[in-house]
Amino acid sequence: MKTQTSFLIIMLVVVAACGFYSCAGEAGSFDRTPEEVAEEESQGEAVETVGLPGLENMDLPHVETDIEPEDQVDGAAPEDMVAEPLSSTCTNHINTSTHIWYVYYTGTCTTKYRFNLEADNSTIRYAYGFDTAGRRISYYQYYDGHDTVQDHKVIYKFTLKTGTYTIDHAVKYDLNSRWIAYYLYHDGHDTVQDHKLKYKFVLKTGTQTINYGYKYNLDTQKTIYYEYHVDYNTISNHKVRYKFFLKTGTNTINYAYKYDIAGNRRAYFLYHSGYNTISSHRMRFRSTYNASGRWTGEAGFTVSGVVTGTGRLMTPVVLDTITCGWYCYSGHQGADFGSAGIDSDNLYAADSGYVVSAYTMGSEYASYSCPVEGKTLVGQQMIYIYHGNGKITQYGHMKSMAVSTGDYVFKGQVIGKVGSTGCATGPHLHFGVITNGKTWGAPYGSSYYGSPYYENPANHLEQSINDKTGW
Ligand SMILES: [Zn+2]
Repeated sequence: MKTQTSFLIIMLVVVAACGFYSCAGEAGSFDRTPEEVAEEESQGEAVETVGLPGLENMDLPHVETDIEPEDQVDGAAPEDMVAEPLSSTCTNHINTSTHIWYVYYTGTCTTKYRFNLEADNSTIRYAYGFDTAGRRISYYQYYDGHDTVQDHKVIYKFTLKTGTYTIDHAVKYDLNSRWIAYYLYHDGHDTVQDHKLKYKFVLKTGTQTINYGYKYNLDTQKTIYYEYHVDYNTISNHKVRYKFFLKTGTNTINYAYKYDIAGNRRAYFLYHSGYNTISSHRMRFRSTYNASGRWTGEAGFTVSGVVTGTGRLMTPVVLDTITCGWYCYSGHQGADFGSAGIDSDNLYAADSGYVVSAYTMGSEYASYSCPVEGKTLVGQQMIYIYHGNGKITQYGHMKSMAVSTGDYVFKGQVIGKVGSTGCATGPHLHFGVITNGKTWGAPYGSSYYGSPYYENPANHLEQSINDKTGW
């Protein structure tokens, strides 16, 4: 299972398109990430649920750029309810001694609205609405400057659990009394005195149609940003299309998921650092899901020629025993994975990156001899992937390739199958790590400048194929 590595170095200068070989893609399968598991365990809200099944086209997520300033609700402390002095005629009136303004249900002496006034008896502090049985059903706050008895404008209407101070949900209005936001609250923290916003849905003005939404933690910090399926984004029938996980309390995106109408995850997104705010997000990589919610892997995206992997290399095969390590024989600048049964196994990208070269060696290599008689370099299939920060991984002796030169690959994406093409004496993967890849032509041109500097792959493999942390 030896390989003549000195030839592999020379091969770096060669770039061959995938035309030498069929480039049909192939699905890999991985377990869910810890983030997914933790996120799922913390979920369970009715916000992203049910509906008719149907797959969405994969698009770059569209995000609203006009992010509304934070309008966390101020909780005015309600006063205790006093016995309500009904007027003898049950007409609307202001009790100038208690500073309360009463409005009655027509034809009855039942209070419909009670406005608690400032001492001037004309400015509203807050108000309650009652049902015909005298139970509280809503709580109101008003716009400053528009909260007089003559000119009161509701800014928030909190719908209460009947007869209590517990908030069910709330609506925010503009000065023309049109709906502009809808709120849901954390259970156990949703009283009028201690309400904690859990979800804020920004609405299309005057409608019950959701533009986008946020989720908050108990410290009122933003944690998730939502976008919705068109035609399924009303308050009574909203369906999450994208869920962006934010760095707590900021508008900065960590990663995101895409969902179909049925609420199934269909894609996972990572973003470029420094370009991942809600108003300026740039996707770095994405991976699609198959029906069972597992990775299928998909090419990623780049911004301004920048491609950066996770920085942690994953062992690229499942049978991860190194059968011939660094300099196991003179000149062996790599690690061979050659366990029994590895023939035709899937080969995975050790990290996300850009395929600088995926090629089959042609007749130009016929003059090079292999250390083993009867072998030839001609026909060897090889891949080089650039991961940013000067790092390149090399995959040799492949039986088949599933990516092409110029592709972007996601960490863990299947890039081909293990074989024994070239000088190999048996099926194995020759895996190499180059650390001075910064000399590759910008942005990742096909030419190589300078001498490749190989390092012992064993010193760079930080993750097993089943370790999904830090992806
Ligand atoms: Zn080798």
